[in-house]
Amino acid sequence: MTPETPTVEMHPQRWGDPAAATRLPDSALGLVELAFGLQDTPATTDAAPPARSLGDDLLAGLREIVGAEHVLVDDATRALRTRGKSTPDLLRARTGDLADAPDAVVRPDGHGEVAAVLAWAVEHGVAVVPFGGGTCVTGGLAARRDGFAGLVSLDLVRMKRLLAVDEVSMTATLQPGLRGPEAEALLAGHGLTLGHYPQSYQHASIGGFAATRSSGQSSAGYGRFDAMVVGLTAATPTGPLDLGSSPANAAGPDLRQLLLGSEGAFGVITSVTVRVRRAPAETTYEGWRWPSFDAGSDAMRTLAQSGLLPTVIRLSDESETAINLADPASIGATEDPGCLMITGYEGAASEVADRRAAVTRVLTGLGATPLGTEPGEKWAHGRFGAPYLRDALLDHGVLVETLETATFWSNRERLYADVKAALQSSLGEGSLVLCHVSHVYETGCSLYFTVAARQSGDPLAQWQAAKAAASDAMIAAGATITHHHAVGTDHKPWFAQEIGEVGVRVLRAVKAELDPTGILNPGVLIP
Ligand SMILES: Cc1cc2nc3c(=O)[nH]c(=O)nc-3n(C[C@H](O)[C@H](O)[C@H](O)COP(=O)(O)OP(=O)(O)OC[C@H]3O[C@@H](n4cnc5c(N)ncnc54)[C@H](O)[C@@H]3O)c2cc1C
Repeated sequence: MTPETPTVEMHPQRWGDPAAATRLPDSALGLVELAFGLQDTPATTDAAPPARSLGDDLLAGLREIVGAEHVLVDDATRALRTRGKSTPDLLRARTGDLADAPDAVVRPDGHGEVAAVLAWAVEHGVAVVPFGGGTCVTGGLAARRDGFAGLVSLDLVRMKRLLAVDEVSMTATLQPGLRGPEAEALLAGHGLTLGHYPQSYQHASIGGFAATRSSGQSSAGYGRFDAMVVGLTAATPTGPLDLGSSPANAAGPDLRQLLLGSEGAFGVITSVTVRVRRAPAETTYEGWRWPSFDAGSDAMRTLAQSGLLPTVIRLSDESETAINLADPASIGATEDPGCLMITGYEGAASEVADRRAAVTRVLTGLGATPLGTEPGEKWAHGRFGAPYLRDALLDHGVLVETLETATFWSNRERLYADVKAALQSSLGEGSLVLCHVSHVYETGCSLYFTVAARQSGDPLAQWQAAKAAASDAMIAAGATITHHHAVGTDHKPWFAQEIGEVGVRVLRAVKAELDPTGILNPGVLIP
């Protein structure tokens, strides 16, 4: 089974569906002017990628494998497959920098064609960048090309089938090119859901979720994507991997974990078998007010440690609550709003009612004020809209970007304070640093920061300095460099510190075994 409608291509210089591009609401324009001053920083529109270094004689081999119509070398397609959607990626694209454009975009259909493309790339010394949805925010699509004859983008967009559904075991096998909504629509045909809703859901792919160990906004109820995966297949330059023949086993280290989070550096994930759930009969979202970020965070810990988590739970700090990111459509400051928590429940009506009652008892007992369903519904309605605002702010000379980390509960306060201070000191007076607890576990949580500052003359360098300061603070605080955005190229120096010298050697050894000529995503992930 395949999706009924074609995949929407994102704008090459902006986030998301070009038809949904937005201006800043008038209510926000005044505030932005007050906070940062308005600058006019429009994007360049007439940039072209550099001349391609792979000639038609070489590409003939690729055309034989996938069909001539699936080897694309036109400038527009090459531009669309250049890098991902981090703010640095957008800043580069906006100034017409397409230096990382692939020479060609190749669209295989099936594991066999992927394996054949990899064999062709090994034979001719061509670098290969697997491309899922292109929503990467850590430089994972900006592979190095030096030392290679050229670079191709391996676009998995034709691999969009629901391959199998096992309603007895409650698993489904999906091809990697399915975007989030496409996968959900196919599963809905069986009354099932995956329940994976990252903010990039509308454009990110199943293969990308697996390759980056993504985490969605309903992770408290459905789990991280990597926790949903029970099996996968991958094509590597040295042969296929087919992993996951039972729900659990003790057959040595879990090799699935080598591919989950491998960011295209070890192999191309060609199918993923995931645990699925019955589609929820009922969904309810609501809001709570906490007097402080600490009080709300402690309540999240209490819920997580007593096994009482809702499906969705997130808590904004005082600054984020004041800016009201929960409702980007009505961005604006309010007086002493405290800290906004959103909780959501999905499932059968009785499950939703029981869990909601139990969570309500705990939250009210700990001092939360119920705000009813309105803030929750607003959040649910607006949650995929916020990334469009980043482009609108970039148009007005405001630097906006996000970063995330995670730590144990006992270290949460220190991590929050240190990362916030590092960002504020680097971005200077007048910058905004907002944070929310985005994912919770029994033992800890992830912190997700959003920053906004008036762009300097070199916004790329401005952000890189702030990001380095924040990353140093994360590692110094003993936290991870990434909870769900993955490593890519941007996080490599801190990733190396996080896993240590032996960890780096292990990764290099795996790379040498699976991809001895190093054609897969050179420069990505492996320090
Ligand atoms: C606005 C915005 C919001 C975001 N929100 C979230 C969020 O809430 N949660 C979250 O976890 N992430 C989030 N992200 C980050 C990003 O969406 C995730 O990392 C996502 O999982 C990437 O999926 P993709 O299909 O777009 O992968 P791509 O960007 O295409 O690729 C990501 C990496 O994986 C590799 N890759 C892709 N497909 C395969 C494959 N089949 N086999 C092997 N390697 C492959 C690529 O080479 C690349 O290195 C967000 C990003 C943006 C821009």
